[in-house]
Amino acid sequence: MSTEAKPFSFYEVLPNGKTVFFIDATLLKNLSLCERYFYLHNVENKRPKSHLKVKPFPMAIGAWWSDVMELFYNYMRDRRVINLQDIQQFALTAWAKNNLDDCMLADPDRFAQFGDIAGSVLMLHDYFASQYQIDDKNWQIIGVEEGFGLNKEVFIGESNEVVVYWVGRPDLVVLENRERLFPVDHKTVSRIDGSTTGRYKPSTQMPGYVYSTEVIAKSLGYSYKVDRCVVNICSRSRPSDNPKKGPKRPRFVRAYPTFNKDEIEEWKRGVITKCERIAHCLKYNDWLWAETSCDNIYMRQCDFKKMDSSVPNARDIVLAADFTTVEPWKPYQLIKEKEADD
Ligand code: SF4
Repeated sequence: MSTEAKPFSFYEVLPNGKTVFFIDATLLKNLSLCERYFYLHNVENKRPKSHLKVKPFPMAIGAWWSDVMELFYNYMRDRRVINLQDIQQFALTAWAKNNLDDCMLADPDRFAQFGDIAGSVLMLHDYFASQYQIDDKNWQIIGVEEGFGLNKEVFIGESNEVVVYWVGRPDLVVLENRERLFPVDHKTVSRIDGSTTGRYKPSTQMPGYVYSTEVIAKSLGYSYKVDRCVVNICSRSRPSDNPKKGPKRPRFVRAYPTFNKDEIEEWKRGVITKCERIAHCLKYNDWLWAETSCDNIYMRQCDFKKMDSSVPNARDIVLAADFTTVEPWKPYQLIKEKEADD
């Protein structure tokens, strides 16, 4: 008998025919962009072979930003003082981890707008002098990249077809001035403009973090009301020092989307309905194509466009030639899995 662990799956069909979901915002966002994309990306776990070496620019910078923020706020959680040498080390460590030298060679024009390694260090100095110093006075870091949900901690609801649990890994959970608990999410955007802070509501991800933070805090004996998320936003382009119109744009900005009880209940109903749709698609292998998304999946052309532009009987050939199958997406590792890996 094989002793290999069963690969993770975000769903399981029970003997009574219901499907149990461990669902997160990434899965639902992919579903809302295109069901066929969701099927290929999240059910079949197909990825372009080219992305294994070099990630597209927004993905690469987003991963770099997330990694440096994790390093910053680990220091804050541990009450360690950050010096200029640390900041340089954060930038370099995350730069190497995300293979940004190769990404820069593949997309020099967009990296020119972001800045090189030296520019990224200067940018982090700016972040440290402005946002971080204020956070350090007001925030107590409760968690950095702590996953939740795979042990069914956050029950969303049940219907005749599905049972749904929410799963996630907020970048930070923070207690502000000893009285306000909230999750924080680090994001990068192409540039900051007047509409940037309004982009996080409506949202699938933010109410998920808000609701889960309150549920988990309650399960640990804390009775904080959680009704907002802080989105810590960084522009991937360096703002021009001499803009043609208006004042210089900021490099960093924060959004504060709030969600009351009724909005959370509405969000939960929406999550259950979306899971019912996934259960239907899985059962009947019936995935709709959203052709309006083919040129705009996460701000770039869909990975599967070449394949889906081919005649039907050529698609399997393109899939085999250009794509590989990866481990299924899992928002975080359970502690016992981490220990087994170490
Ligand atoms: S190419 Fe278009 S239809 Fe095909 S998966 Fe991508 S977005 Fe969906």
